[in-house]
Amino acid sequence: MIPLPAFSDNYIWLLHDGSQALVVDPGEAAPVFEALQREGLQLRSILVTHHHADHVGGVAELREATGAEVFGPAAEAMPEPIVRVAGGEVARALGLDFQVIDVPGHTAGHIAYYHPAIDGAPVLFCGDTLFSGGCGRLFEGTPAQMLDSLDRLAALPGDTRVCCAHEYTLSNLRFARAVEPGNTELIHYLAHCEALRADNRPTLPAKLAQERAINPFLRSREPAVVAAARARDADQSTSEAGVFAVLRQWKNEFR
Ligand code: ZN
Ligand code: FE
Repeated sequence: MIPLPAFSDNYIWLLHDGSQALVVDPGEAAPVFEALQREGLQLRSILVTHHHADHVGGVAELREATGAEVFGPAAEAMPEPIVRVAGGEVARALGLDFQVIDVPGHTAGHIAYYHPAIDGAPVLFCGDTLFSGGCGRLFEGTPAQMLDSLDRLAALPGDTRVCCAHEYTLSNLRFARAVEPGNTELIHYLAHCEALRADNRPTLPAKLAQERAINPFLRSREPAVVAAARARDADQSTSEAGVFAVLRQWKNEFR
């Protein structure tokens, strides 16, 4: 999987077999055209996770130029024509059967695409649901919905390569450190990612096992994370969804 930088901090993921390619969430067409040209590839498929413009903005132009087949969420407004898919269904692209997972929260109909073995290891395209060290903002969903969606993703195999749609890792990990200052693995991972970014390299894909160890939104039942949420807002931190809500609100306000 190759992350194509787009806008200021998006990644459009490109997967290819040497001649044919798919892309995920092409918010703009130009970086995709450049990559296809550079690598000598033909675009066959486009996978879309949710309706936001920074994920669908390039779809119509790419489809028109290449004839690529477009898959997208069953329950969101999309640049038609698309093949609509929902949780439990399969999106077949480049001969690969991607399992569709419903992950509402960031948007109401957000989906993720999972394949158990690409070049020997699982791959997840999760749009703006799970970020390295963080998660998407709750524009159209509740904390309980997002927690449920992240639980579904966290249950995937630990060696899953998590392909997120934004390079938000450093700011997420700085927030994570404020939540869990005693998490030494997190401190080490932050230093690792700072070195990557200083070198202008992507921090993604992330390993799911690593995320479980450092991402506060996958760790909202850990005693240290619960304690931090209670210290921030005791009244709201009385349930699992309440703790998650406090974490999400805290992140929104964190600088
Ligand atoms: Zn979004
Ligand atoms: Fe986005």
